[in-house]
Amino acid sequence: MTRHFLDPRLAGLVRYVPGEVPRDGRPVIKLNTNENPFPPSPAVVKALSAAGAERLNLYPDPEARGLTRAVADLFGLDTDRVVTGNGSDELLAFCFHGFCPRGAVFADVTYGFYPVFCRMFGVPFETVPLRDDFSLNVDDYRGRRETVFLANPNAPTGLALALPDVRRLLEQDRDRLTVVDEAYVDFGAESAAPLLDEYDNLLVIRTFSKSRQLAGVRLAFALGSSSLAADLMTLKFGFNPYSVNAQALAAGEAALRDEAYFECTRREIMRNRETLQEGLRALGAEVVPSKANFVFTRPPAAAALLHRILRERGILVRHFPDEPGRPARTGAWLRVSVGTAEQVGAFLDALRDILRDMRRGTADAAL
Ligand code: PMP
Repeated sequence: MTRHFLDPRLAGLVRYVPGEVPRDGRPVIKLNTNENPFPPSPAVVKALSAAGAERLNLYPDPEARGLTRAVADLFGLDTDRVVTGNGSDELLAFCFHGFCPRGAVFADVTYGFYPVFCRMFGVPFETVPLRDDFSLNVDDYRGRRETVFLANPNAPTGLALALPDVRRLLEQDRDRLTVVDEAYVDFGAESAAPLLDEYDNLLVIRTFSKSRQLAGVRLAFALGSSSLAADLMTLKFGFNPYSVNAQALAAGEAALRDEAYFECTRREIMRNRETLQEGLRALGAEVVPSKANFVFTRPPAAAALLHRILRERGILVRHFPDEPGRPARTGAWLRVSVGTAEQVGAFLDALRDILRDMRRGTADAAL
């Protein structure tokens, strides 16, 4: 008999399922986890070498003062309104754990980690269905008292809510906190950061994983009122004051300083996104107009099968199967991260081939 030591309150825990990380060294085109296809800025690589492995015997600055100053300057905020974290996943975890006294509410189609956090921390949650076109109706949140989690742009849809709508959401209830998860905002959406001085019921979370090419170092920050930031800092120091390591601090500062590289790479991603969207439409796919570094698309063939065949050909994209007992929403769709121009071209070529083979009835045979 296997003995179980897990607290029964956590028996219903499910794991968040991250996108596949290739293992066997086979070259793949990785368009499944919305990473940035470009390497970090040369300034980051230099800062990492200069950060000095020989200083790794020392703990990093738990207050991340250098990086916090750089972030505060970028947003024109005082440093006591900035909290850094080990990726936005960590900061989100603190928010679900500490800022949801009445539970949490979020869209039915959104970042799949939100319900996982809720189960982890025993936070009751409700989901609010998006419209059929995946757009979010702010009025659906009127009267809700739970803490609102809004991914903007949303994942996996790529749709963004305009600033006046975010403001309406905040206005609905000044005593209700809204956490705006802006992981993808740099790819063409509007940030809620300019609303921070007006609304103390707003927390904005940003990451270095997407537009700053640093998914591997795990680095993010939150912006809020000084009181919200102080509480978030208490949550962080109650868990791990050193969760942002020395290398991440050095890399983050250097990345923020290299504005030119940031601009040039995010513009290229936005250009490649247009190519990807046009190419998909030309192949008969439905496309949700994206403001992120990925495209949510309904291909003209079974998404699960396409996902599998693409994988066999070394191209990873993401498929979110419908969940039993829930209305079908995402099973017919694929989420494709925007890669380099070559990667986008290779993906579209492969998809064209596969669809042609399917029409001839040979695609499955190729598996
Ligand atoms: N929020 C959203 C909406 C995301 O899609 C992701 C990436 N999976 C995250 C947060 C987590 O990003 P990070 O790498 O900063 O933990």
